[in-house]
Amino acid sequence: MGTRIVIVIMLLMAGLSAGCAVNQENIHGFNLISLEEEKQLGDRFAREVEKQQRVVADPLVQAYIDRLGNRLLTGVRAREFDYTFKVVKDNSVNAFAVPGGHVYVHSGLIKAAQNETELAAVVAHELNHGVARHGTQQLTQQYGLALVTQLVMGQNQNLLAQLAASLFGQGATMTYSRGMENQADYLAVETMYRAGYDPRGMVSFFRKLDAMGQRSPGSLEQFFSSHPLTEERIQRVQAEIAKLPAKQFKDESTEFNRIKPKM
Ligand SMILES: [Zn+2]
Repeated sequence: MGTRIVIVIMLLMAGLSAGCAVNQENIHGFNLISLEEEKQLGDRFAREVEKQQRVVADPLVQAYIDRLGNRLLTGVRAREFDYTFKVVKDNSVNAFAVPGGHVYVHSGLIKAAQNETELAAVVAHELNHGVARHGTQQLTQQYGLALVTQLVMGQNQNLLAQLAASLFGQGATMTYSRGMENQADYLAVETMYRAGYDPRGMVSFFRKLDAMGQRSPGSLEQFFSSHPLTEERIQRVQAEIAKLPAKQFKDESTEFNRIKPKM
């Protein structure tokens, strides 16, 4: 009987550690929150974010980010949510995703990008945090299922407000694991490639952001604290790109160039 318990415990432990480690290929990692619950939580999260941050209301900007987001969605592995894309008026260079497929881009990020491909790289990364459901995985690991269930049911508005604020720079309450960051990069390369964006734009933008961060650390603090741009990370992305078959890409930045001055 003793051995049986040990075996059960070992199996449980194996299951748990498999849940924590991230297999890059597997977008359906260990998740205690159902899709339906994540949608509910996502809607609450989005409302909270939009209470705290000003969404750019210009219909041209909205149409543009919708088009870019929808083009990227043609390249993702799964579309289990009703994805939304919004630009928030904030000069820091940052983007984030909340559970349930809601992606937010700071106007400062659009200013920092040189063309649509560079912007698409960061949106593709955030989008894939949503596709792989990293938000709910991370929340349950960090806060436990009981607390996340409270959030789903709208019972802990204070914590939700605090978490939302942390996404755009007020303290880092929720941070993804390194494994999740690597997976979001890995999937973003694939998404860009499939959607017709040159994934090398991700490398060039990462390098540029890294240089910017070294020149004026304050401007990128939030982005770098949640997304450390290490040389190892850039090389990992480059190695991923090198495995892809050659393809012709076209950067159509006409619309991007029209939107950027509005930021
Ligand atoms: Zn990330």
